[in-house]
Amino acid sequence: MDWRTRLLDPAARSRRDYQSLATPVYRGSTVVFDSQAQVSDDWQQAENGYSYGLYGTPTALELAARIAELEGARHSFIVPGGQAAIALVYFAYCTSGSHALVPHSAYGPNKEMAEGMLRGLGIDVEPYDPLIGADIKSLIRPNTALIWCESPGSVTMEIQDLPAIVTAASETGAAVAIDNTWAAGVMLDAFALGVDVSMQALTKYVGGHSDLLLGSVSVRDDRAYEKFGPVYRQLGLAVSPDDCSLALRGLQTMAIRLEHVERNALEIARWLQKQSDIETVLHPALPSCPGHQHWQRDFTGSSGVFSFTFKASVSAAAVERFINELSLFKIGLSWGGVNSLAVVYPDIDRPGKDYGGRLVRLNIGLEAVTDLTADLERALQRIAS
Ligand SMILES: *Cc1c(COP(=O)(O)O)cnc(C)c1O
Repeated sequence: MDWRTRLLDPAARSRRDYQSLATPVYRGSTVVFDSQAQVSDDWQQAENGYSYGLYGTPTALELAARIAELEGARHSFIVPGGQAAIALVYFAYCTSGSHALVPHSAYGPNKEMAEGMLRGLGIDVEPYDPLIGADIKSLIRPNTALIWCESPGSVTMEIQDLPAIVTAASETGAAVAIDNTWAAGVMLDAFALGVDVSMQALTKYVGGHSDLLLGSVSVRDDRAYEKFGPVYRQLGLAVSPDDCSLALRGLQTMAIRLEHVERNALEIARWLQKQSDIETVLHPALPSCPGHQHWQRDFTGSSGVFSFTFKASVSAAAVERFINELSLFKIGLSWGGVNSLAVVYPDIDRPGKDYGGRLVRLNIGLEAVTDLTADLERALQRIAS
């Protein structure tokens, strides 16, 4: 055949029996079938074979299987980011006329979606006190389709009484979903506690290096799997195999990264407790964190993200100066990477609580803990003088 044809339909091929420790990056939209009879467009690729790149190449499906294995899930869907995972959960359970519950401490863009897009579609998402526990029963309505939990909460770190919420939900028909990002899907066994869906921003600890965006939605059983699949397909939540490959690599070092940041975050949290300008340290493993007893009961460890508040005697402007004085701690959102980060949250909306621009969240990275405390100490001294 003509060389031009050979470019597209070559006879030359490498051997395909290469056995690497790394998962190959399979790129591809089109899947080639052996016969017309085999053509399919089925999202259930894990069971029924590959049909289209949209539902994941083998690289994405391997990541999905690995996350499902870690979380003890029936299946995990890999999606373009944590926020896409949140959207998938809402759209799998809620239709026009549905009611859903979301804690005040939920990830900001989750609440933003609830109040924006979902309200516009006739889905009523009601915020609740993250420490409500069994009293959530009084908020559940006949049309409550979904109860979100996030434990610990974003920024304010409340740890929820998940078993109590699951029990209340099980008496109705409401599904319970948890944003399990902080615990990296490994330090909290959400399915053992009875939740239906556990989602994560893989962007954080699984990726682990601030260089990718991915999310996962892990479902407990066949019922949830069948419910999520068509929505996942209709939303077209395709992911890049290159990002999945990076996430698979991230998994290989996640245990030692988590161990390191757990130790150093605790050391820094305890050090902060002793500083005269600091009011409270909101670290789940410390009794000063609301819901600490639930962390003790339900979690097997803590990660590297926590918050603290300055005393009322420190002005919001001084807190901002503190952030700017840090040098090793970079100023940035997102977390779970190898660099330590600090950011002040000036506008936290928690009913009955005014943090007055004095709440700072830290992400502890892999730097030496002595250098990190020295950085914090220097910045504290600068604002004191
Ligand atoms: C970052 C984050 C998300 C969103 O993840 P992206 O991948 O950035 O979209 C969701 N939930 C929590 C708790 C997060 O911290």
